[in-house]
Amino acid sequence: MKNKVLVVGMDGLRFDRLLALRPPVLGRLLATGVHGTGRLPYGEAAAPTTAAKGQVVPPTGRTITARTDSGPGWSSIATGVWPDKHGVADNGFATADFTKYPDFLSRAAGHGLTTSALFSWAALEEHGAFGPAIATRVVLDGSALTFAVADKQIAAAAERHLAEEDPDLCFVYFGDTDEVAHDLGPHCEEYTDALMAQDRYLDRLLSAIGSRPSFSGERWTVIVTTDHGHLDAGGHGGVTDEERTTFVIVGRMGEDLGGRALGQARLVDVAPTALAQVGVPVEAEWELDGEALPL
Ligand SMILES: [Zn+2]
Repeated sequence: MKNKVLVVGMDGLRFDRLLALRPPVLGRLLATGVHGTGRLPYGEAAAPTTAAKGQVVPPTGRTITARTDSGPGWSSIATGVWPDKHGVADNGFATADFTKYPDFLSRAAGHGLTTSALFSWAALEEHGAFGPAIATRVVLDGSALTFAVADKQIAAAAERHLAEEDPDLCFVYFGDTDEVAHDLGPHCEEYTDALMAQDRYLDRLLSAIGSRPSFSGERWTVIVTTDHGHLDAGGHGGVTDEERTTFVIVGRMGEDLGGRALGQARLVDVAPTALAQVGVPVEAEWELDGEALPL
């Protein structure tokens, strides 16, 4: 069997809302995969007069100065290390070090695998979070187009790509859940609609994979994750559980892994999990903070 991986990122998706709303495709992935949550080991602490950073001391014992924002979150997902290593503390990406800590797709490309990344948040390309070694990159600017429009186009491009081309690892990102939550919070009908739309996009990606002529000889692992949560009122960056709680769901197409909950699944575990599924050995000198999740 040829091992392949699809990682789908949904920005600002609160796990408790996902459980409550239970979209059909993600619900099936939860029931037949494995999943876990984690708490980001960083966040900007709210203080009466100052916004002091780095107040969260993570289990690693390192003090990590970063906001619970998209830049640090997706950079941690991409690289498998926390912000004190990859250097992304907020959406400015000012001190990013993707040369020392490249994304997992670039690592896989270095091992001769075919990789692709399709995403609607252009900053991830602009600042190199998903690097130029990735064979196929489709980047749209959701901030300009609206994420609802950009995500729809990303879904269509990813659907074609997965059906007709031959990636070993593919990353697809949707951002509308975050955009809606910023405007209206994660408890409104519009947030439900955005999540359900992304669930339908995921369905189309899985159907496209299933339609591949070579599918019977392939074993696809599907990973879904998010970069941070949201306050009930909308917004993130801080240290509350609502902002810091993230999740990782891992499923295999055509296999039932039992739906069990892992003790934890952190953002930094996504990269080593994806690499493990396609047989790329993690090297000690990479200094990854994450570990491959047990499937
Ligand atoms: Zn985000």
